[in-house]
Amino acid sequence: MLMPYSLLTVGPLAAALAAGMYFAPHKLRLMQQRALARFCKRTRSLVLSYDDGPSAVLTPRLLDLLRDSNIKATFFLLGRNVAGHESIVDRAQHEGHGIECHGHDHTDAWKTAPWRPLRDIRKGYAALEKWVPPHGLFRPPRGKLTLCTWLALRSRRARIGWWTIDSGDTHATLPTPESVVARVLESGGGVVLLHDHHRTEPRMRFVLETTRLLVELAQRNGLATRRLGDVLDELGADHASAVLQRSACISVNERRR
Ligand SMILES: [Zn+2]
Repeated sequence: MLMPYSLLTVGPLAAALAAGMYFAPHKLRLMQQRALARFCKRTRSLVLSYDDGPSAVLTPRLLDLLRDSNIKATFFLLGRNVAGHESIVDRAQHEGHGIECHGHDHTDAWKTAPWRPLRDIRKGYAALEKWVPPHGLFRPPRGKLTLCTWLALRSRRARIGWWTIDSGDTHATLPTPESVVARVLESGGGVVLLHDHHRTEPRMRFVLETTRLLVELAQRNGLATRRLGDVLDELGADHASAVLQRSACISVNERRR
């Protein structure tokens, strides 16, 4: 097991390695999550995102709920969970949801040798190739990114699909669905992290009830429910136009001098 903490215990060289390998990508994650949260607040956007599926029981129940509410969500699938559930993924894509990659075996990039998550990314995209293009969004398992995985994603031009609000549906103690709704309301929108792999009935009920309440919140408060890929497209275009505007201002100011 190669842990950032263990690297830090063996001297300055290891500390420098850990900083480049683990903490710089983590800092990048925090910056990107903040930018995403700000953008969602400004555009009053709400993204419902579900990780670790698909599953035979919960995913179809979710798809029914989303269809009845005419909401498009985003699913970050695990390659290993797709076998036997292909028709569920077909249905999700046919109904207009974003289908994206979460790797194959949910490899935590901070808790294993550096090359293992690279193989997991490749295997994940390969298993999902029917639905996800090679540059489709990627959500790192447990949100753990290293310099190696970041470079691998850059080389396939895959953007990272972060979340901004963790629903807490994997925490040891489940929060109430109402508390998740309150956090989304307070944030003025955002990207909510939920999970749709097979779990106990109370956890599946939590996911369904939280989804139902978030849909109601969006309808009541005029939040636009959108797929994460669409939000990131707009955020990227927004950033590009801000850069263009800045460079136009600089060249006008230079001409005036
Ligand atoms: Zn996950």
